[in-house]
Amino acid sequence: MNDRLRKLPTYPMEQLAAWKRQLEAAGRRVFDFGTGDPREPTPAILQQALRDGLAPVSQYPPTGGTPALRAAVAGYLQRRFQVKVDADTEVLATLGSKECLFHLPMTFVQVPSDKDLVLYGEPAYPVYEIGALFAEAWTYAMQLGLSNGYAMDPDLVPEAVLRRAAVVFLNYPHNPTGFCLPDALFRRWVELREEYGFVLVSDECYVDLCYEGERPKSLLQFGKKGCLAVHSLSKRSGMTGYRSGFVAGDAELIATYRRFRASMGTAPQEFVQAAATLAWTDTGHVEQRLQVFADKRRILLELCRQRGLKVHGSTAGLYLWVEVPSGVRDVDYAARLREVGILVAPGSFFGPSREGGGQDRFVRLALVPTADECRAAAAAWPK
Ligand code: PMP
Repeated sequence: MNDRLRKLPTYPMEQLAAWKRQLEAAGRRVFDFGTGDPREPTPAILQQALRDGLAPVSQYPPTGGTPALRAAVAGYLQRRFQVKVDADTEVLATLGSKECLFHLPMTFVQVPSDKDLVLYGEPAYPVYEIGALFAEAWTYAMQLGLSNGYAMDPDLVPEAVLRRAAVVFLNYPHNPTGFCLPDALFRRWVELREEYGFVLVSDECYVDLCYEGERPKSLLQFGKKGCLAVHSLSKRSGMTGYRSGFVAGDAELIATYRRFRASMGTAPQEFVQAAATLAWTDTGHVEQRLQVFADKRRILLELCRQRGLKVHGSTAGLYLWVEVPSGVRDVDYAARLREVGILVAPGSFFGPSREGGGQDRFVRLALVPTADECRAAAAAWPK
């Protein structure tokens, strides 16, 4: 086995799946707030587009994605963010966003060199670190916390780290906390990118899921040179299983990543790209899904209020970041919830826990069970 794989801890979502199997094996009704994989059907118009897109002859999809999909993406970026991109040179279709995020350190970090480091915030979606590990890059995890709204502030990064950084990952709306990044900090990252020359990547897979406050922005509204924005249809359009996303930004970076993708695999199946073309064009289905998530969120916020549990951030994205009762650790609180069939992700799954205000003070609830299930879970929730 490759040593990098040997060193890898169990992927957190695998642990959640194992807990779920244990509960099911014990005959429990499971309320699964663990993994962010909503169960609402894929919108009917997209199901139809998937069916209509089936071709009698199956051939390799073009590496960059179909011209129609890339044009739809350019249209979306223009309408949603007033960002102009060239559909031919500044957009690539991807199989969701996970694989793309994993590839970017391998594509842009040369080790050894004087730019050999991947920087991200913590708590975080684990793939930034795992991608760095497979690229054999050094990592620097900025410790984020409540005191600054989990905002990645580049002025808090040591200068030597910024100089060594080859790839920087931002992720706002943030998983697991649902905080957004103030414009001033997007701007500052772009300024410092100019100065230090790293590739600035923004994971924007939750950018269209916002419940309160200003609509989240794209990095591309602040800069394109040296910048990449990674998007996904998984949550926004109910297409998790179909695997469809895109990366857009700096043409030179896109050309480099295209070389990587041509060597590695293919773009999504063309029938998926046909549905994706419609998904990036239509906004009605996104608004409907947002209403569904907002209903669940309301039920769970009320539950937390009744139980005296503090919810932080969580104004956008697919999760509630809930502070556990004082004196209890995340894993113990999650275990207590499992006793009544409620599955949540302990905060320490998103980065090593620290004493006093660390991730082990929180659990993450994904807005996944249906509204009725959320109500039933609320009734079962320990006092
Ligand atoms: N980025 C973040 C922050 C995520 O939470 C997820 C999935 N939950 C992804 C990327 C990957 O999603 P997908 O590959 O389905 O687009």
